Amino acid sequence: MKGRRSFLVTPSACGTPLLRHPVSVSGTRAAGRASSSSSSSSSSARSFVRHLGLGRRWVSCGASEGSGEEAELRQLIEENTKLKERIAELEAFIGREELLLTPEASEAASEAPEVTEEVVDYDSIDLPSPADAKPFWESIPIRTQSGTGRSEAQGTKVDGFQLEVVHLTAEMAPLAKVGGLGDVVTGLARSCTARGHNVEIILPFYECIDEGLLDDFKFEFEYDVPRGYEWDGQFQVGSLKTQVYTATCEGIKMVLLRPDWSECNIFKGGRVYAGSYNETEAYLYFCRAGLEFLKVSGRQPDIVHLHEWQTSAAAMLYWEKYNKEGLHKPRIVLTIHNMDNTGECRAEEFGVTGMSGDMFNTVEKALDERTIGHNPERLSLLKGGVVYSNVVTTVSPTYAIETSTGQGGWLSGTLAEYQSKYHGILNGIDDVMWDPARDLYLPVPFSTSNLKGKYFLQKYVRSGLGLADPVQRGERKPLVVCITRLVPQKGIHLIRHSISKTVEQGGQFVLLGSGHADGDFRHLAEHDFKDHPDVKLIVGYSEALSHFLFAAADVVLVPSIFEPCGLTQMVGMRYGAVPVVRRTGGLADTVKDEENGFTFDGTDEGSLDGALCRAIECYKTRASVWEDLVVSNMKTDFSWTQSAQRYLDLYLSL
Ligand code: ADP
Repeated sequence: MKGRRSFLVTPSACGTPLLRHPVSVSGTRAAGRASSSSSSSSSSARSFVRHLGLGRRWVSCGASEGSGEEAELRQLIEENTKLKERIAELEAFIGREELLLTPEASEAASEAPEVTEEVVDYDSIDLPSPADAKPFWESIPIRTQSGTGRSEAQGTKVDGFQLEVVHLTAEMAPLAKVGGLGDVVTGLARSCTARGHNVEIILPFYECIDEGLLDDFKFEFEYDVPRGYEWDGQFQVGSLKTQVYTATCEGIKMVLLRPDWSECNIFKGGRVYAGSYNETEAYLYFCRAGLEFLKVSGRQPDIVHLHEWQTSAAAMLYWEKYNKEGLHKPRIVLTIHNMDNTGECRAEEFGVTGMSGDMFNTVEKALDERTIGHNPERLSLLKGGVVYSNVVTTVSPTYAIETSTGQGGWLSGTLAEYQSKYHGILNGIDDVMWDPARDLYLPVPFSTSNLKGKYFLQKYVRSGLGLADPVQRGERKPLVVCITRLVPQKGIHLIRHSISKTVEQGGQFVLLGSGHADGDFRHLAEHDFKDHPDVKLIVGYSEALSHFLFAAADVVLVPSIFEPCGLTQMVGMRYGAVPVVRRTGGLADTVKDEENGFTFDGTDEGSLDGALCRAIECYKTRASVWEDLVVSNMKTDFSWTQSAQRYLDLYLSL
């Protein structure tokens, strides 16, 4: 296992910044002890027991004879108590050594004759301050994925068949992520890749993409993407030169498409979805560019997997054009991550694809029924995607029911009509990217067998954000965290209300969010809660800070009005937080009241209070119940394993 690295190696030795903080050497241990399997742990324990001479005591206990039976019994009870204490000590010791090793290191350690054990020296880590020149979350240099082994989903069994799957998507984490779509595409692609499938993601090569995150980055070729336009009242088809780049990111194969910027400004700009180009036109171009790329490169994947309205038009173009012209093999899967936006588009706008939109302008195809009688009537790209795809999925079973029974807005009718090909598959979370024991953003790791790292990170984050440290004052104050887009779907009025409610109930509140309500929350941050010892409101987007906040959180709040799946409640649980959520969509599928979190039903403040206050009360008055909840939440399997299997079953069924 040459070239793999562990948390144990000092920064200077491995050149990685993860443990840029000093570590102390606390001893050495024999090969084989590092394995994370329980059987090897217990055999390590046995050898450790023998080493201490305790084995002989076990024997003498069992074989003891003598006249004073009472004395013997007392002696046995005493010895038994000591042995139990020693067993607990040894178990704690073994739990700790498991934590200190990454799975790669465990494997390496079992091959090497001797491994050095090092323990994070928390006392030597400087705590950050809000006065620091750089905020703490920007000061931890991040390793790229190459060489860390992070790209692999650990321990995955390879399937006995291989599918070729191409995703066409507007987002992919961490390259181009705005919300859950990016996480889901990466998690699903990584999981299927690890099972031996040939998965590729086709993504717009946005100007804002950080090329530093790409491995094996290469220009491949340039090709012409057909492009329609009006000239003299006539529909004409020209072309737009497009460059193809390939790379890997997070171990996943990428194809990046960039249009000629001397001809247009599509995908230019500092952020995804924030350029000065027309988004509908940009993604229509991208759909055509993706299919044309498959055609010119002679590809015949088994599955083309589309996501959201942005790539839905590819289903329409595929069945009305490409399938008839030789790209015959692929079957089309569309995943709806959120029906908030259904991709409204005029028929003539569709013409940018090089195909007239008129052919889709019927109720059976892509006409947006809400616009009947309007001038002009409009298409819905998402509806077209639903009609034309072989299979349509959404991201949780409850959201599938909600959206096909009236709560999905006007598209409910179409989804109900296509019920037999519509499936709700719960998202997983990417357990490589979201793993507190291997998180590349965090200065120290933690896991269920050692929560010390989590408690240290709470102190670290409180210090860096300028929040009071309740531990120092001997208080129990839960840290309530909300990481969200600030859009009406997320329950903005409930988020606003929960800030003061949390403080009133004796908790602390941290928000990391951005979106439509930025102005509102900025005002709160700069006036009502400026320099507040228990509240920090950060308006903005930061992947790095989100990792710190999940690690530090006692409670994650997700009060969404509707929520197709929701990832933050699952990520929060994996990082030892307890979710408080509104019981809707995927939140209802993943959080059960007083089992793994606290839920409420109404959309009013009173309903939220019911759940939030119960959570805070539980944290404050029932510490051991809370700790059990933390540990069992961290152990819950939210990985992609099961969900990827459902997708693969669907792929295979086509
Ligand atoms: P949605 O996709 O509707 O935004 P999800 O809960 O499915 O909601 O996914 C949101 C993802 O985006 C999570 O990974 C969350 O951590 C992340 N996220 C949301 N807002 C921010 C932010 N302001 N900064 C960093 N990450 C954020």
